[in-house]
Amino acid sequence: MTFKVRYSYLPQQFDDQAISEILEELRLFVPTGDFTLGKPVAEFERRFAELMGVKHAIGVGSGTDALKLPLKALGIGHGDEVITTANTFIATVGAINEIGARPVFVDCDDSFCMDVDQVEAAITPRTKAIMPVQFTGYMTDMRKLMPIAEKHGLPVVEDACQGILADIEGKRSGTWGIAGGFSLHPLKNLNVWADGGVVVTNDDAMNEKLRLLRNHGLKNRDEVAILGYNSRLDSVQAVVGNWLIGQTHDIADKRIANAEYYDRGLGEIPQIRIPPRPADCKRVYHLYIVFAEDRDALLQYCLDAGIEAKVHYPIPLYQQEGLKHLGYKAGDFPVTDRHAREIITFPADQHLTREQQDYVIDTVRRFYATR
Ligand SMILES: *Cc1c(COP(=O)(O)O)cnc(C)c1O
Repeated sequence: MTFKVRYSYLPQQFDDQAISEILEELRLFVPTGDFTLGKPVAEFERRFAELMGVKHAIGVGSGTDALKLPLKALGIGHGDEVITTANTFIATVGAINEIGARPVFVDCDDSFCMDVDQVEAAITPRTKAIMPVQFTGYMTDMRKLMPIAEKHGLPVVEDACQGILADIEGKRSGTWGIAGGFSLHPLKNLNVWADGGVVVTNDDAMNEKLRLLRNHGLKNRDEVAILGYNSRLDSVQAVVGNWLIGQTHDIADKRIANAEYYDRGLGEIPQIRIPPRPADCKRVYHLYIVFAEDRDALLQYCLDAGIEAKVHYPIPLYQQEGLKHLGYKAGDFPVTDRHAREIITFPADQHLTREQQDYVIDTVRRFYATR
């Protein structure tokens, strides 16, 4: 079915005009043959670092690798534990798992991020890092988390994949810890035409290590300094990224305006609860989520009405088949469980119209009126 309010805005984002402009850039690029770690990657890294206000940005193969490589650079591996949050996209856990470490979950709070008050109880002698997730584009309470990490001598690597340009009192997502990882996946706020990722850091040693790790550990053509990976940001995707990166602030601002509009409309409906919106925190609404009574029925009603609403996520990670070996059991993370039952995601992207938003708000109102 074609949705009146669709979830994917890729056809609008990359319309005919955009495609022609990008293809023209690619037409100029291809004859250079500069296909691995070439000029477009260096340019994208420079512009990304500038956008984030950091010293270094390192382009890598995916958002997952943008989390994995900093952990690897910290020397984390088999037998080590990395504390992260119970409700996140599987890639966070995948990155920890890929280097042989064990993900240890703590529950979320209603910001959809890690409940920082529960972190200390999860620390063991095997804990080697903390990976907060700026989930949905909200910020973890980093002002509280950083002193806890420092007290225990634990590095923080931020999963900022959903949080580009989010901040707390102006300090940006991805810049709080030793490193922060971003994804350029087509569904992320700053997106390219395939997989891609970026790590940001202000630490010179981390920067050097990451540049080795993403390129087989090669110091130069002939010398291998460490064992690494093949995880370079693709030059073709860097061309796409360079075309788009100038729009990143506008994309965030548009999403924020859309979220505020929803908050006002949906906030008037008694069966809908808007999450806390602390004023000192900038949220970029990679996902726009509210709490809803009778969520499953509302979701179906919206789908039937042509609104492509979603749930992020209906089955908590710790209860997934593929993570059974971690030994968690139903009920271990009650807030994450409650979220799985109560939350609903509505499209809030930069290409959504006010008419579409009004239609969503009216549809939700109509649903509860019929109950
Ligand atoms: C998208 C995402 C990632 C990384 O995903 P890739 O598909 O590898 O780019 C990691 N963590 C979170 C929370 C994400 O949303």
